Amino acid sequence: MKYALINPLWSFEGSTYFGCREPHFPLELLSARNFLRKAGHEVLLLDAWMLEISIEECKAALDAFQEDFLVIPSAPSYLFWRCPQPELRLVREWILGLDRPSQTVVIGPHGSVTPRATMDKTGCDIVLRGEPDETLPQLANMPWELIPGCCWRDPSGSFRISPGLGTVDMSALQTLDYSDYPVERHLHKHHIFPGNGADHLTRGAEVEFARGCPYSCTFCNKTLFRNKYRERSLSSVLSEIDQLIGRGVDYIYFIDEIFGVGKQVRTLLEEISQRPVSIGFQSRVDLWDEQSLDLLAKAHCVSFECGVESLTEAGRDAMNKNCRLSTDRIGELLIYARQRIPWVQANLIKTPEDDPTTVATWQARLKAEGVWVSEPVPMFPFPGSPEYVSTFGAQPDDQAWERAHDYYLNLFNRSFSDIQEQQPKPLRELECVSC
Ligand code: SF4
Repeated sequence: MKYALINPLWSFEGSTYFGCREPHFPLELLSARNFLRKAGHEVLLLDAWMLEISIEECKAALDAFQEDFLVIPSAPSYLFWRCPQPELRLVREWILGLDRPSQTVVIGPHGSVTPRATMDKTGCDIVLRGEPDETLPQLANMPWELIPGCCWRDPSGSFRISPGLGTVDMSALQTLDYSDYPVERHLHKHHIFPGNGADHLTRGAEVEFARGCPYSCTFCNKTLFRNKYRERSLSSVLSEIDQLIGRGVDYIYFIDEIFGVGKQVRTLLEEISQRPVSIGFQSRVDLWDEQSLDLLAKAHCVSFECGVESLTEAGRDAMNKNCRLSTDRIGELLIYARQRIPWVQANLIKTPEDDPTTVATWQARLKAEGVWVSEPVPMFPFPGSPEYVSTFGAQPDDQAWERAHDYYLNLFNRSFSDIQEQQPKPLRELECVSC
């Protein structure tokens, strides 16, 4: 069978989306392509965002390819599945604009939690819940009711949903193939800020070493995909890194939910230290100590971002952080890291437990040592996070995104964070379903 995998040309005007707006590698599509090829299918992967190509140009490529399945993600890259834009406007626009006779499949965080609403809003034929890398090939040759997390409408128009969620065996994910991917266009270096010790780097790439996280923070939108912690084979990751270095990449951002947990991390860092490449990632500071931070520096780490969330144990406990360190020790390790790594960032969340004066004092102390500390911001109660259920007292239904979005807009009745649009629109207006 023929599968076309399309990363649309994303735009986020009027959105509360706070992820990075630069193009990144569509790792979910590159990974799915590996599994599809392994199953004997023919694949066209078109990254319209990286190539800056329009719906019309994609349509011409699809006319030539004649796909059986058209696959579109509802969020840009696995990197942002946990914090996607709430609206599905752009996915709908692309499905309508491409106007294909093939079966249209939507993958991503929206369909994973509200599959029927996602189908209705986008006009797609199939929604795959969870991680689709291994369930996409199954659409061609398995009864759909046996495919975990598969949703569709039967000939009578009834909505059908199979039990379970797609979950990938990461040991089966081989080296991603970049031979026909426009790596050279990816000049963006994720989470690198000019003038902060990494200006010498020229070309960035994203790599996935492990998927999932063993923790269960209440605000984390990972329960329906990328949940269970799984590592890839070290040799596959290293050969992917070497392939990218061969294409001129000198900076790799690991998209892992939590880099630093796995058994093979130390070996990976030793291997990276022998290569001409720098790294960045997100982690938790309580996974590191002085010795492992030294190893990070040796592996040319230039960007180290940690979710601290709250400065009180009560605040961290309320978010189920399961953090084993005191606030003093957290500060000590962040400062030690900053003495070795040019960009160290601590993220805070607005909590009732944290006194604003204490927060300001801690921020000032860390900033004086060169650690960048965010302002405490309220979290979007993503449908799919435990926070959604505790906030609204029920599991997400078809109105979950609208409810969460309204709630979030009301939290910001005065002004928005400087990382967001100043005038986000209500979700119904953004999606403009009736247009
Ligand atoms: S540690 Fe990070 S990835 Fe893991 S559950 Fe908490 S917020 Fe999510």
